[in-house]
Order: sequence, then C-alpha cells, then structure tokens
Amino acid sequence: MLVVMDRNAGSKEIKEVVNYLVSIGYQAEELPGKNRVAIGVMGNARDIDRKEVARFPGVKELISVTKRYKKVSREFYPDQSVVEVNGARFGGEEPVIIGGPCAVESEAQILASAEFIAEQGGKILRGGIQKPRTSPYDFQGMGFQGLSLMRKAADKFGLAICVELLDGEDLPVFEKSVDIIQVGARNMQNFSLLKKLSKIKHPILLKRGNSATVEEFLLAAEYLLDGGNDQIILCERGIRTFETSTRNTLDLNSVALIRKRSHLPIIVDPCHAAGVHDLVTPLALASISAGAQGLLIETHPNPLQAKSDAQQQLDFPAYANLVNQVGSLSEFMQPKENLV
Ligand code: PEP
Ligand code: MN
Repeated sequence: MLVVMDRNAGSKEIKEVVNYLVSIGYQAEELPGKNRVAIGVMGNARDIDRKEVARFPGVKELISVTKRYKKVSREFYPDQSVVEVNGARFGGEEPVIIGGPCAVESEAQILASAEFIAEQGGKILRGGIQKPRTSPYDFQGMGFQGLSLMRKAADKFGLAICVELLDGEDLPVFEKSVDIIQVGARNMQNFSLLKKLSKIKHPILLKRGNSATVEEFLLAAEYLLDGGNDQIILCERGIRTFETSTRNTLDLNSVALIRKRSHLPIIVDPCHAAGVHDLVTPLALASISAGAQGLLIETHPNPLQAKSDAQQQLDFPAYANLVNQVGSLSEFMQPKENLV
C-alpha cells in the first residue's frame, strides 16, 4: 500500500504515520519523489484499517499496490533510477555498452580487450573468471588469477570491471576487486546469494533466469532492494522457449514492460540470446528501440579461438560497427527540440 501525503505535509506528520504503521507490525518507508511525498507500506497491507490511517493529519489518499514487488516498482518510486559506474550512467540519457570477452583467457587476450573497449569509448570491461558451464568438461575459467589479470588490464586503460560471482564464499574478494558484480541467469533465484549481495554497496548486474517470468525477475531484484542495495541494473538475456533455431529467445516484451513497471535501469545481452554473432547487432538495435538503457556485448580479439561461447562473440570490427550504429540510433531517439 502507498500512503500519499499532502504536498505540504511536514516531516512531523509523515513520522507520525510511519510510526503508527510500524507500531502495528508493518514496514513503512518514506519514499522520495519529485512530485509527491509518499510512504510505502510493506507487509500484508490488506489487513490495515484504512480509515484509521486516513485520519492522520496530512494523509491525502491510500493506494493499494497489488504487485508482489514493491521497492522495485514505479508505484513506489516513480522516478527513473540511475546507477553510475566510472562515469557511465545506467538509466541516464545515453545507452551504456559493457563489452569484453565471455571469459578471461590470458593476459594478452584481456589486455587487448581492455585497450579496444577503451578505444571504443567504453567505460566498463566484462569478462568471466568462473564460468557456469553446462558440462563439467568445458573450460571453467581462470579463477582469481584471471581476476587479477583483468583488474590490471582495466586499470591500465581506466576501465571498471563487471564480473560474474558464482559463489557467496568469494564475495570478499569480489568486494575488493570488482566494480559491478554480475549475478548470472543460473543464479537469479539463488536467494541466499541475493541476500548477501543486498548487504553490500556494489552495483549488481542481475541477469534474468532463462525460465524466469518478468514477475520472478523483478522479485529477485526486490530481494536486493529490500536488503538495502539499490544499485541494481537488470539484464534481459533471452529465455528458453519452444524455438530452437537460436540459443534462446530474446524477450523484448520484457524490456518495454519493465521500463513501465520498474524504475530500475534495464540493459540487454543479445549475445546469450542469439548464440550466434551475426544476429547480435540487429538484436542490439531492436533492444535499444524497445527501451533498453544499455547493452552487454561479448567481444574477443579472435572469437573462433575463444574457450567459451566462440560462436556468439563479436570480433573487434563488428563490435566497433555495433557501437557506431547504437550511437546513431540513440541520437535519433533523443527527444528533439521543438523544430517548428
Ligand atoms: C555471462 O554473461 O557470462 C553469462 C554466463 O550469461 P548468462 O548468465 O546470461 O548465461
Ligand atoms: Mn558467454
């Protein structure tokens, strides 16, 4: 439930309502907003005596929030959230592109990648160090050795790094060395991991599980916000459907829908959706058109030699071309000054 206060209600009146709601067993939180003062009520608000709340001075109206996610919703926070990392603003005016290889494979590979991403105007380098592979016989990643190579390469070129965390045990190392902690599709509903990540301040890139509904995706993000971490970036990366011609099916409905329902920034990873490099650029452009506020793109100095996801990584010229096209498209999409 939302308790909307009169525009000129003072902090004393707001506090009185919050204290009352807390005293009867609910979580109540003052919500910042440009155009209104409101109090968000969490808990089973159906049982609240609405008349009792309405009697408090300064209360304008009570609005039921039927969605199971609250802090993630635009009902609670109408204004777009912006997550800023190394000067890049997720949810800001321009799309943010995170680029880099599927996995860190060697010093030379990650150095070449970092140099290239910086040259392309990128601010954030991606790369996996522990890969969640379907088969135990496939390349599992370089582990912490890969992380230190990546950190060194990124520092050399002024980049932040985005790395997937598989296991909560490794969180202390990630907190020290990683700028954006990625929760992969396979861990989207690893609630104990989400709870741990909710207690830190690092930005989290939360990928959609490949069989998760939009509601489940947003409820996973709710765990992070509810625990106290509001630096959340959502990432659509394709879902499993009856269609087998591509690795997954990119669900652009989810992007347009999440832009409406949530204030959190959402980006798209077309590489894991398509599974093949030559579909990546058209899907990236479609994603931006649907409202994505950024992209996660796998690129490799020599994709065919890649130890994981060789088919879907862009080579450097294709990546540069994508950056260029996304730039033109987003310029075209900027709200125009009145031209008449
Ligand atoms: C990745 O981004 O490296 C990855 C493994 O993606 P996903 O979790 O979306 O499969
Ligand atoms: Mn990959």
